[in-house]
Amino acid sequence: MIEAVNGETRLCGLIGSPVAHTLSPVIHNGLAAVLGHNLVYVPFLVQKDLKSAVLGAFDLNILGVNVTVPYKKEVMAYLAGVDENAGRIGAVNTLVRTENGYKGYNTDYLGLKRAMESEGIFVKGRDVVVLGAGGAANAAVYMCAQSGAGRIYILNRTKKRAEELAGRVKEFFPDVELTALETGQYEKLPKESLIALQTTSVGLHPNADQAVITEEAFYKRIAQAMDIVYNPAHTRFMQLVEAQGGFACGGLKMLLYQAVTAYELWNKVSIDEAVCRQVSELLEKQL
Ligand code: NAP
Repeated sequence: MIEAVNGETRLCGLIGSPVAHTLSPVIHNGLAAVLGHNLVYVPFLVQKDLKSAVLGAFDLNILGVNVTVPYKKEVMAYLAGVDENAGRIGAVNTLVRTENGYKGYNTDYLGLKRAMESEGIFVKGRDVVVLGAGGAANAAVYMCAQSGAGRIYILNRTKKRAEELAGRVKEFFPDVELTALETGQYEKLPKESLIALQTTSVGLHPNADQAVITEEAFYKRIAQAMDIVYNPAHTRFMQLVEAQGGFACGGLKMLLYQAVTAYELWNKVSIDEAVCRQVSELLEKQL
């Protein structure tokens, strides 16, 4: 947090419902403090009308806005423009001021890629299995296809959703090999060296003892993995990967880097790893 709010303080914030649980203020106010920017970030609970919330924020000269559940799709109707990748993913989580209104971006998919790469996980040319077919999986599968993954497998409890997701991404990346499976069909995956992205909400606090798949035969195939769940920090999925000798990391860095990328867009700056590490420490203390 900056030391004193004054007439030149820039305001950023998060719109959604609910917003009380958010860790975003820790990251953005932490970034402002470390970088010496006169900026404050606060959560805004949308009362009922998203359109007036977005137009009101613009009129109040709010510099940047994050968008969370349940508005990531709906918000697109009230923007001056949508970044091509965000439009293809079908979700906007960051609004950046332009002359005529906000332009929408998706920094979740960029944050995921940056987080994975910071952990030494590079999808180019690699086979990837994505567990889940919801909003987060959408961004993950799109990122993998755009980054030149080899084969991409989507495993989901509801196979139809996995098929729909594969179909959507295929429209933009027709050459990528995408296979939709029901979760129990993991025997159809390649036998080794897979990257796994756990994007379901299974294993989230307070159900920390759960994982969407528990069979060893699945985890033997995994070389590197990220669970995008960050609470708890060491999920059951991560433990199962590690038990079979794979590398696993959690979702806190994705949260950090989606915020860092938004902050960079708002402030037209580039934030280096040393700053990210300082803010990551603040974040870990909050959990
Ligand atoms: P979502 O759209 O509701 O999708 C939920 C997914 O989880 C679906 O694939 C759903 O399968 C699956 N699922 C839920 N309960 C299940 C169960 N009991 N057994 C098997 N599968 C189950 O949610 P989302 O927005 O993608 O978010 C998913 C998770 O990612 C949340 O925990 C969220 O906090 C986390 N997340 C983290 C970050 C980060 O920055 N680290 C960013 C975004 C999201 P069905 O299709 O069969 O229902």
